[in-house]
Amino acid sequence: MAFLQLDHRYDDIIERARKVTTQLSPLSVTADNSNSIDEGVAEILRDSGLMSLMVPASHGGSDLALDPVAICLVREALMGECSHADSLFALQGIGSFAITHGGSADQQEQWLPQVGAGTALAGLALTEPVAGSDLKSITTNVTTKGGDLVLNGHKSFISNAGAAAFYTTLVKEDAGLSLVLVPADLDGITTTPSPELIAPHVLGDVVFDNVVLPESARLGEPGRGLNLVLSTLATFRISVAAASVGLGQTALNEATRHARERTQFGRPLNRLGPVAGLLADSWADLESTRLLTYRAAELAQHDPLEHIDHSSLAKLAATEACCRIVDRCVQVMGRWGLIRDSRIERCYRQARPMRIYEGASEVLRLGISRRLSQEVD
Ligand SMILES: Cc1cc2nc3c(=O)[nH]c(=O)nc-3n(C[C@H](O)[C@H](O)[C@H](O)COP(=O)(O)OP(=O)(O)OC[C@H]3O[C@@H](n4cnc5c(N)ncnc54)[C@H](O)[C@@H]3O)c2cc1C
Repeated sequence: MAFLQLDHRYDDIIERARKVTTQLSPLSVTADNSNSIDEGVAEILRDSGLMSLMVPASHGGSDLALDPVAICLVREALMGECSHADSLFALQGIGSFAITHGGSADQQEQWLPQVGAGTALAGLALTEPVAGSDLKSITTNVTTKGGDLVLNGHKSFISNAGAAAFYTTLVKEDAGLSLVLVPADLDGITTTPSPELIAPHVLGDVVFDNVVLPESARLGEPGRGLNLVLSTLATFRISVAAASVGLGQTALNEATRHARERTQFGRPLNRLGPVAGLLADSWADLESTRLLTYRAAELAQHDPLEHIDHSSLAKLAATEACCRIVDRCVQVMGRWGLIRDSRIERCYRQARPMRIYEGASEVLRLGISRRLSQEVD
């Protein structure tokens, strides 16, 4: 059903991701209803070795380490089966990207091999109760005291909170916005679960109360934290697009089978014009956003930040298309589309948050439109 022409070097990763989704299948309903780590899913992912895609080869990563195309292929497959597994996989990269690109040799040596092996879970702490899309309004801060950094503040809706071994944390200081690497077991850190979402997720609030860090906890230069965050998003927004493609594909497969088998008014549903239209429009949405996603992933292989507008385009188009697709597929399946915890109903709930996190659609449109105005003569 998919018509991508990919280099043969991706054959092995596609095959491994496929194998993992088969192993995940019996666990996915339970795991997708859980707001704490499902150990069975975590073990399958660790054993698969796929998390090693998230760290450089010099620190235990695989041949295709940090290749956005490979990461997209895995997320497409995982999200098509189990959103809990997709999130666990993605967070290893989202939380550690700044260590790979801005960390010291010691930080890389300490954390990256564990991230790649899945023995340390990663977190990225940007959002706060007041600061969401507007990251410049964060109030979590570090001050210096006797050569140390003292961290205070409140981060909210942080994936892997309570389970992560460290949080890559955006803070305010005199120099501007900076990133610090905060091991989760330090004194002064408390985590509490966030409210449960329509599609459960390992999510919590993290409070830092006079947490003492050495100066060496910095990631990159003081005041340059937002650049590392933008590079992270430039890479991983494309992978959200790929996850949307995987989810849309699963929804379309479900609806297509249903429409082929169920008869009304003497014909299979897929031969009733309006139903055929819903399926055909969904396939068009799916294939066009798949192409856009993998093109953005190829561009990001060379310089993610330079191509951040293509990442945003892919995320905007694919997440919006995914919501249209699952909505149409529920419609095609009639009452069977509404059954709690059925595959299609899970797709319906899981599609929605992707239009909000890692850049809400409306915020992405602002940047895309600005770039468009610069590009047109
Ligand atoms: C499942 C999930 C996982 C998450 N994981 C993490 C995590 O690991 N780490 C982390 O730091 N955060 C995480 N978040 C938080 C997420 O990043 C924020 O929800 C997101 O940045 C949007 O912020 P907000 O929800 O405060 O919405 P707001 O910023 O309040 O925006 C609300 C709406 O207003 C509109 N809007 C806002 N600003 C503009 C603008 N400038 N122009 C036009 N429209 C605008 C948009 O429609 C937007 O959806 C997660 C959220 C979810 C749902």
